[in-house]
Amino acid sequence: MASASQNTKSSLVHVFLVAFSGQGNVNPLLRLAKRLASKGMLVTFCAPERVGKEMKAVDENSITDQPTPYGDGMIRFEFFEDGSADDSDQSKIFDFDLRMEMLEQAGRRNLPKLLKNQEDEGRPVSCVINNPFIPWVSEIAESLGIPNVLLWVQSCASFSIYYHYHFNLVPFPSESEPEKDIILPRMPVLKYDELPTYLHPSSPVQSLKRAMLAQFHNLSKPFCILMDSFQELEDEVVVHMSKFCPIRTIGPLLFNEPEIASPTDIHVSGDCMKIEEDCIEWLDSKPPSSVVYISFGSIAVPEQKQVDEIALGLLNSEVSFLWVMKPPPEYSAFQPVVLPDGFLEKVGGKGKIVKWCPQEQVLSHPSVAFFLTHCGWNSSMEAISTGVPIVAFPQWGDQVTNAKYLIDVFKMGIRLSRGALANRTVTSEEIENCLREATSKESKVAEMKENACKWKKIAKQAMAKSGSSDKNMQAFVDELKKLHAKKQKENSQ
Ligand code: UDP
Repeated sequence: MASASQNTKSSLVHVFLVAFSGQGNVNPLLRLAKRLASKGMLVTFCAPERVGKEMKAVDENSITDQPTPYGDGMIRFEFFEDGSADDSDQSKIFDFDLRMEMLEQAGRRNLPKLLKNQEDEGRPVSCVINNPFIPWVSEIAESLGIPNVLLWVQSCASFSIYYHYHFNLVPFPSESEPEKDIILPRMPVLKYDELPTYLHPSSPVQSLKRAMLAQFHNLSKPFCILMDSFQELEDEVVVHMSKFCPIRTIGPLLFNEPEIASPTDIHVSGDCMKIEEDCIEWLDSKPPSSVVYISFGSIAVPEQKQVDEIALGLLNSEVSFLWVMKPPPEYSAFQPVVLPDGFLEKVGGKGKIVKWCPQEQVLSHPSVAFFLTHCGWNSSMEAISTGVPIVAFPQWGDQVTNAKYLIDVFKMGIRLSRGALANRTVTSEEIENCLREATSKESKVAEMKENACKWKKIAKQAMAKSGSSDKNMQAFVDELKKLHAKKQKENSQ
């Protein structure tokens, strides 16, 4: 492996990645950062300073602005002032619109300076990559003459839905027809509650819809759209949408991470919460395929009455479980929840509760049989990459669409909830029955496990040398090198 330190800073292609906050945005962007670094690029991972504080609190040593060798390239971190220091007025905290506006204002003020500094420090930026929700980053890149790329962090199916909605290409549920089916090219017919919830007229959360659609307004700016998905998983919709947008599937990005880095490279997970490592020891003590892993991702916290029902359902089903119960994110409207009195005593050694766990490691553990998931796209891709079937407990946004795909298209899951539009608490009986079914020896369950393993194998092939995602990634890297060479030529003239 050619040592990155043999290269001078300016001879490396410098790619500058900007992440929106939230683990679901940080993880895929950081995984992309590592892949690009491993292929010989200098990569700066940049995010709002609130994210930086959380990442540094977990992993102070790796999160540094100094370029650190990674694979054939280097990785470094920078965080931009995001307006969160002005948070003295607590009433602003739950106002998502206001927070987005403050972030945009601060980003538009500070990011251009950061990007110009790179040039002054001898590492001009060849490409800016951002994820959705911060579409103004594309405008900043354009204004500075830096090529821009979008890393889409949801499925291609969700991309297609937003695209058709934004450009008004097919009818969607409306005030007068709220339960209308959605018919989109190369996709199964979606029921109204399988549509990303923000697009439904009854959704109370309009700000997230606006933020997401703003990216579609700016869709002509990125010269390509990278997706953390793989061609074989979403073949028809990828082929179809590629007629309109320069889509490149490059996932699952988490695959084979140990193979892309040298043993001496920094290990940086990007976790925004401290991991409780002892859950792996606990899993070690359990028989193979005996544990249900439960997580609702990094943001959602089910309401207290739902937590009570889950707890009772778990007790009655008698399954072993590892349950991630994180505290509500600091700046969210979610309320803290508690376990019912005496629950832990009754569960004894059968269950373990943690605040945060190393999810990839947990899903790869042989003791894990099923994943009761909120169906965030990262969690969905992680289940697919590790071949773990799911119990779908979607909440909102694209999670309901992902649940539909995991169950009806990828055929690797059972449904437990239909998400926010159903507006009901899933009962302990439903949970008990579903968990009993998931851990039974029924042929339907065996088939789901087989399908999950099949997807794992195909995902691995996609990421292996000359696989579909590997080829797309290599083509992208080659394009970045050309951009860099062009810039160097212009500078020398
Ligand atoms: N995650 C984790 N440990 C946990 C819970 C979640 O590392 O205890 C990670 C998980 O692996 C995934 C991310 O947090 O990469 C959550 O992203 P996802 O898109 O699934 O959901 P979101 O948090 O965006 O709702």
